[in-house]
Amino acid sequence: MTDTPLLISGPFTGEEEERLKNACPSVRVATLDAVGGLSEAARGGIRAVAFKGHNRFGGAVMDLLPNLGVIANFGVGYDAIDVSAASERGVKVTNTPDVLNDDVADLAVGLALTFFRRMVVGADWVASGQWPTKGEMPLNRKLSGSKVGIMGLGRIGREIADRFAAFKCELHYHARSEKETPGWTFHADPVGLARAVDVLVVALVGGDQTRNYVSREVIAALGDRGVIVNISRGTTIDEGALLDALESGAIAGAALDVFLNEPNIDPRFLELENVVLQPHQGSGTVETRRAMAELQLENVRNFLEGRPLATPVN
Ligand code: NAP
Repeated sequence: MTDTPLLISGPFTGEEEERLKNACPSVRVATLDAVGGLSEAARGGIRAVAFKGHNRFGGAVMDLLPNLGVIANFGVGYDAIDVSAASERGVKVTNTPDVLNDDVADLAVGLALTFFRRMVVGADWVASGQWPTKGEMPLNRKLSGSKVGIMGLGRIGREIADRFAAFKCELHYHARSEKETPGWTFHADPVGLARAVDVLVVALVGGDQTRNYVSREVIAALGDRGVIVNISRGTTIDEGALLDALESGAIAGAALDVFLNEPNIDPRFLELENVVLQPHQGSGTVETRRAMAELQLENVRNFLEGRPLATPVN
């Protein structure tokens, strides 16, 4: 065994990596693919992994690290990590919940506003220099007061709902259980939720359990005035069905921060005019990424120093 207990496996930014390096006297930096190339002694020394990214962290990699005790994920969504495999091996997993709720919720509302008020078109109207010749921009659509459905009323979903409530919207939601939210309508059936609203905001947990949860049937129920906003994971929506509906006009549009196969998204998206597309930047502010890095580090430190984990998953 070596005395290098922390493996940093990103892609981390320079600042994030420095913070982890400063906190631990000795670290290794390697992608998951490169773990097998480390010496047996180096692998045996690793007790904690500070992980970031969407590459699969499965049991096979865990088996290369016989003394691994914790995988500290950077992000609330840990669907890239096989948590069952970790639990079977006695490995704890941690994430970074709550500190990013505001930013992701802000982006969800921003996406809806950008779609309804066509702000990308508006920005181009001015920046193109053609405002004097083109005249007034075509009228767009009112968001305030519309019917909004939140698919997944967890930590982030709740923040999104609170923001839309301030926009005087009628709130509907679906989750596995009904919440204490007077005045908001619970739908036990996801199709029923879609049928009731103009805007469907997806804030579900990712992973196999919610794959294609927003199914072809849910998308169809939204109707041709309906708009989908997704800040959760690309996996939560049947992406083929979504693209079909966007191309045919079966729904009015979509505003998306997450996709299957990021960053190599389906090229069909690039042909559409009824979409607003963002490069998975929901938590991407300086302030929040710093808070996430600190929480990840707290989990690593607590583990290595024998204290209880701050935000365990399993
Ligand atoms: P959360 O608090 O765990 O809430 C998840 C919601 O999903 C809950 O309402 C939960 O229902 C529901 N859910 C979980 N499993 C389900 C199942 N099997 N069937 C149906 N519903 C299920 O999670 P969060 O912290 O709000 O995060 C929500 C999502 O945001 C995650 O997918 C995360 O990856 C994503 N995210 C994206 C970004 C970004 O950059 N775009 C940043 C951060 C997070 P109950 O309420 O009944 O438990």
